[in-house]
Amino acid sequence: MIYNVAALLSGEVGATRVYSFDDEAIASGDGGFHGISGVVKLTRTDRGILLRSEITGDGVSECARCLQPAVTVLHTVLEEEYFPVNGDLGPGSSLLRQKVVEEDEIPEFWIDQANNLDVTEAIRQALVSETPLVPLCSPECAGICPECGNNRNTNPCECEVESIDPRLVGLLDLKI
Ligand SMILES: [Zn+2]
Ligand SMILES: [Zn+2]
Repeated sequence: MIYNVAALLSGEVGATRVYSFDDEAIASGDGGFHGISGVVKLTRTDRGILLRSEITGDGVSECARCLQPAVTVLHTVLEEEYFPVNGDLGPGSSLLRQKVVEEDEIPEFWIDQANNLDVTEAIRQALVSETPLVPLCSPECAGICPECGNNRNTNPCECEVESIDPRLVGLLDLKI
């Protein structure tokens, strides 16, 4: 998901380009995202390019109960500004370094020497932020048996798992 923005950078502030993509995949940590589709709108600003995007995709992570893959359908909207590393492109580019120094900010997203703008990392971060903190393969996941280690979804076991009243757990702590 890389777009060449040379023409956009040398154009007027406010000029836009719209792109769409379908069924892309992004690796992330132990899991990742696939089936990513959406729309990217790139707008020339006085400092660089503003990315606006709306995307959907499937996030694959590890089920918090049974450790098997958990797939979550994700939808997100994101907005990030990209800055050209080339200082000599377009009417606004020469302002970039000056503004960055003045505002003492270090932009995270850059347009490379060849004027390519890669939206992958911004989209990955947006999808990560939508991923549930406790992903589950299904709301009914029975998890792993704490006695024998079986995955109780696929391999139910006969173990007696005692459930302890939470108030008693507090008493146990006091005795120790
Ligand atoms: Zn599970
Ligand atoms: Zn068991």
